Amino acid sequence: MKLVYTHENRLMVLNVKNILSDYGIKVVLNKEYASSAAGGLAPIDTWPEVWIVNNDDFGSSMKIIKSLDVEIKTAMWQCRKCLEMNDTTFDYCWNCKRDKF
Ligand SMILES: [Zn+2]
Repeated sequence: MKLVYTHENRLMVLNVKNILSDYGIKVVLNKEYASSAAGGLAPIDTWPEVWIVNNDDFGSSMKIIKSLDVEIKTAMWQCRKCLEMNDTTFDYCWNCKRDKF
């Protein structure tokens, strides 16, 4: 068993799980309902997780997840001046220093 993907958004996790299943990779979902029963846990501990059953599938799983690009597309924004892609945590372009908005 190996953890291959986790995200605070349950739908993203379900999406990854379904796609890996479509590729014939055996996966299990962990902590799917943890967030509703979360009590004193740190938020990251309540994120649902996708685990693969066979460790041999790890390489191909990572390749598939990377090709999905899910995380990157939602987390990046494009600078309107120089068209550079910026991480969502930046408030201004790392390249030309233009404001995000
Ligand atoms: Zn820029």
